[in-house]
Amino acid sequence: MDKKIFMDYTIDELVELGIKPKFRAKQIYQWVYKKYKDNFDEMTNIPKDLREKLKEEFIINPLELISHEISKDETEKFLFKTYDNHTFETVLIKMKEGKYTVCVSTQIGCKVGCKFCLTAKGGFVRNLSAGEIVAQVWFMKKFKNFPENKALNIVYMGMGEPLDNYNNLVKAIKIIQDDNGLNIGGRRQTISTSGIAPKIEKLGKENLGVNLAISLHAVDDKLREELIPLNKAYNIKSVIEAIKKFPIDKRKKVMFEYLVIKNVNDDLNSAKKLVKLLNGIPSKVNLIYFNPYPGSPYERPDEETMKKFQRFLLDKGITCTIRESKGIDISAACGQLREKELNKEK
Ligand code: SAH
Ligand code: SF4
Repeated sequence: MDKKIFMDYTIDELVELGIKPKFRAKQIYQWVYKKYKDNFDEMTNIPKDLREKLKEEFIINPLELISHEISKDETEKFLFKTYDNHTFETVLIKMKEGKYTVCVSTQIGCKVGCKFCLTAKGGFVRNLSAGEIVAQVWFMKKFKNFPENKALNIVYMGMGEPLDNYNNLVKAIKIIQDDNGLNIGGRRQTISTSGIAPKIEKLGKENLGVNLAISLHAVDDKLREELIPLNKAYNIKSVIEAIKKFPIDKRKKVMFEYLVIKNVNDDLNSAKKLVKLLNGIPSKVNLIYFNPYPGSPYERPDEETMKKFQRFLLDKGITCTIRESKGIDISAACGQLREKELNKEK
């Protein structure tokens, strides 16, 4: 693309690019992130020559919406197209009391190659830029016409492995946190990772105040390797050690995601090992129903098995929730809409 993406830049970087003095860069940030403007001409308090420079050099929103589906449970799924004609998705989940969570993608495709994940099947295309990550959150606020001070919760659980796109992820978090911009703090942002241990440690040192979610899914290395090939490089022990070094807010816990797959990891012996593994970490467990897709090698567990697994953990004093698969009827889990769209093209 011949123009730069405005949302790729922090305020300080914009100043370095000649968008100055700094208070001007802040004003433009406010137009974009608080008034949801994607057109420099509407920024009436910005001098005309600066607006002309901006128009020549930048585009504001890098994403084009190409489809929007709403599920029965009001989960909304958005398929976006990038400037270089790739597609990826973002999910907006309606929570209790008018709260919303945005499930953001960080890559087009994914390199990790988990056996249960549809995103993995499509292979890896490219990283999303910081601006392409930020734009997903910005778009939801604009689309829903939310008041500027409405803070959404953000989970980096869409397509891709966030820590495999580390620099862009960290930059996006900082841009999203800026109080001249979306002003969404770290405690409202949760990074979900399949367990790139050194990057978990590195992220901890950035002190962004973000929450951590670990896609654990298995309690012994043999099975975890089978499900998540990355476990060969970073085994369970190394992941747990990295988590122990991560700064966790005293009121918060590390979330362990455990994808429950019928007859694979749904037995109480696994639950028992899980309790042992989490010993010493302020943790909560989120049990996820495996969500089958055409051709998937696994099956969804039944409700009774889920409840038993949950009960076991609760009895050991571990906070444990069961994640209802939101938006099942519009295939809102991990990469499924994009796949549908690609199949249409074939
Ligand atoms: N790459 C990161 C974040 C994206 S995946 C990670 O793996 O954590 C977000 C969540 O969706 C992960 O916990 C993943 O295990 C889950 N997921 C992937 N495929 C799924 C499926 N078929 N059914 C249910 N959850 C799935
Ligand atoms: Fe990548 Fe996460 Fe899917 Fe694994 S589950 S392939 S890490 S997106």
